[in-house]
Amino acid sequence: MKFRIALIAHDKKKDDMIALATEYKAFLATCALTATGTTGGRLIAEVGLEVDRKHSGPFGGDLQIGSLLVEGMIDCVIFLRDPMTPQPHEPDINALVRACDVHNTPCATNLASAHLVLSLLQQRAANKE
Ligand code: PGA
Repeated sequence: MKFRIALIAHDKKKDDMIALATEYKAFLATCALTATGTTGGRLIAEVGLEVDRKHSGPFGGDLQIGSLLVEGMIDCVIFLRDPMTPQPHEPDINALVRACDVHNTPCATNLASAHLVLSLLQQRAANKE
């Protein structure tokens, strides 16, 4: 079974997301990836991953991913949030993180936890081979 991973990064965290995805590219290429619009566009163009792009976050992308998650279609969320910049879609962000908590879905909101989650999932995928 492919891991189904959602990837989202706020603007000041997008370079970190690209670096993270580049580091885990071989593993991520085996996963079913979903991302918000701009994050997804950069992952496709700069990392070469296949990504199902939703709307941009401020236009409802976080809500689309939250909806998928509630339907049991997402196994893990990597959400590199920018805690220093107010976001116009703060309620949507909170809704997505809340949905992760409600459904006990792993949600890494910073780079350190993203590394831990991705390295563990990568290991699990390798053990299943
Ligand atoms: P973006 O959305 O990938 O379209 O920038 C992310 C967000 O701001 O939640």
